[in-house]
Amino acid sequence: MALLERSIGVEDLVLLEPLAQESMLKNLQLRYEKKEIYTYIGNVLISVNPYQQLPIYGPDFIAKYRDCTFYEEKPHIYALANMAYQSLRDQNRDQCILITGESGAGKTEASKLVMSFVAAVCEKGEQVNSVKEQLLQSNPVLEAFGNAKTIRNNNSSRFVSEHLLEKSRVVKQLEGERNFHIFYQLLAGADAQLLKALKLDRDPCGYTYLNREVSRVNGMDDESNFKAVQNAMAVIGFSEAEIRQVLEVTALVLKLGNVELMDEFQANGLSASGIRDGKGIQEIGELVGLNSQELERALCSKTVKTGKENVVTQLTITQVGTGEKKKVMGVLDIYGFEILEDNSFEQFVINYCNEKLQQVFIEMTLKEEQEEYKKEGIQWTKVDFSDNNIICNLIEHNQKGILAMLDEECLRPGQVSDTTFLAKLNHLFSKHSHYESKVTLNAQRQSDHTMSFNCFRICHYAGKVTYNVTSFIDKNNDLLFRDLSQAMWKARHPLLRSMFPEGDPKNASLKRPPTAGTQLKSSVAILMKNLYSKNPNYIRCIKPNEHQQCGQFSSELVATQTRYLGLLENVRVRRAGYAYRQGYKPFLERYRLLNRSTWPRWNGGDREGVEKLLGELSISSEELAFGKTKIFIKSPKTLFYLEEQRRLR
Ligand code: ATP
Ligand code: MG
Repeated sequence: MALLERSIGVEDLVLLEPLAQESMLKNLQLRYEKKEIYTYIGNVLISVNPYQQLPIYGPDFIAKYRDCTFYEEKPHIYALANMAYQSLRDQNRDQCILITGESGAGKTEASKLVMSFVAAVCEKGEQVNSVKEQLLQSNPVLEAFGNAKTIRNNNSSRFVSEHLLEKSRVVKQLEGERNFHIFYQLLAGADAQLLKALKLDRDPCGYTYLNREVSRVNGMDDESNFKAVQNAMAVIGFSEAEIRQVLEVTALVLKLGNVELMDEFQANGLSASGIRDGKGIQEIGELVGLNSQELERALCSKTVKTGKENVVTQLTITQVGTGEKKKVMGVLDIYGFEILEDNSFEQFVINYCNEKLQQVFIEMTLKEEQEEYKKEGIQWTKVDFSDNNIICNLIEHNQKGILAMLDEECLRPGQVSDTTFLAKLNHLFSKHSHYESKVTLNAQRQSDHTMSFNCFRICHYAGKVTYNVTSFIDKNNDLLFRDLSQAMWKARHPLLRSMFPEGDPKNASLKRPPTAGTQLKSSVAILMKNLYSKNPNYIRCIKPNEHQQCGQFSSELVATQTRYLGLLENVRVRRAGYAYRQGYKPFLERYRLLNRSTWPRWNGGDREGVEKLLGELSISSEELAFGKTKIFIKSPKTLFYLEEQRRLR
């Protein structure tokens, strides 16, 4: 520990001694205070949001990190990007960069840094340049339509691949939050002619869907961003007509928000709804080529319940093509593990994704270790490591998982409710080691005052989370009523029409659309398959404080995140075999000064040099393994000893 306090902490947590939550936090804090926001766990990068522009991303840094070997320079996001890029270029391996962390931790910024690094170092050529340009321009578009100001982040990403957009945000935002940026950008940035054509007014206050209090965000220029988005869409390859259609649909959403439904009491005493102001509906009809009467009918059938349901997970897949052969580098920006005061279906979804990512992480890390040992010709002894398969199974098992039970309840005729769903779970999982409920606890004569009867609890790898089942059934159903999709499908507007294929009468006989849970499960499965086929690179983002402030480090907040990110577990997996490995040459370079036979000059081979060096230091042979190109060291203590000795010279 003395070493830690004197210096700026260890650059790689694998070398932390003793390894514990507390020492890990101290190390991160120490580094953060010295503006060292990056730390490794082996080849995993931890990034603590600096909330200030650090002078570490310029061309000088790109030059320094391009073509470096991973441990050569200080930890940096460019080192990770470079490692991924090199492996893609030289070994022809598809790459995936997985970025996790909670809202505001810096995931999207990290993904932009990775992309701009790759764009800067990848081979030149006309075709490549256009791909590069498209890649860099995809961000403003994704952010305009998928990001919004939230309480926790002024530019929070609210979407996951295609269908997992935070839909509820369109109709409702919390106090202090905004709708998706594009609505404000459109109103602020469109010229008078465009606004008129879209039948919109400039003032956001006129629109029910745009929260009146915060139509502007500090430091964000909606007007010029609108120009940037239009331009970016053109670069990505949208035609002028397509851009126009997208804006028309955007306008349609705003105008639909202003359509007021009104209950009228008919003579017979039954209520029926109608539309208060016919002008809006008329304009919408003209805008997208819809019969306004038909639209009104669709809207007024009592089944309309727009946007009550939402599924939130953060995950942006941006695919980066890099030239001739189709090698792929995917950058995945996904919402981290989440425990709120009241956890519902959304948290369940997010946490399930994270549970799966942890599963991939464990499997791939251990597999990678195994492969490296094999490649280096080192005896492999199987590392036992507890995995989280049992928890994943509890959620996703095809017949007996929680998601399957939820679907079963949603599709079962008769009296179904959140309560019957919970009862089913309680019955089925009464003896499951990772499932708890008031009922199962009572049966075991355990009391827990924090738990109420409408909750169940899952013991996730990152901790226990209590979920309230209220509206699980509704949210899972995620129904869009057929009358509405049929009306939309009839629009003489190619884009709008294409968005509602289920409105096509030809598809009317189709079964109901899959539930939110089923959609989620299949997109997670696709994602996992994708990940397994690629070489993974991990970035773990941490938010140092709740105030978007630079220089503040709240240990408590960081502690929670390190737990949810499973960082300590990461270190343990990494240390399960050999904690440290290094090529013979750089290793010799660094430590040759420790003894006479290798210092000042060594004329033999690198490997022999390292053997001689470590032999003379009488380090136990059990601590070491000599691979084909690398030296492997089992415990961090040994490396520390070497570092200490080096310092004393
Ligand atoms: P969400 O899950 O809500 O989308 P996020 O993890 O994507 O959040 P970002 O939008 O990337 O978070 O980061 C939030 C803010 O933190 C940024 O707008 C920026 O001001 C600041 N920030 C993040 N990373 C850095 C960095 N490396 N350097 C400077 N500022 C940063
Ligand atoms: Mg984001």
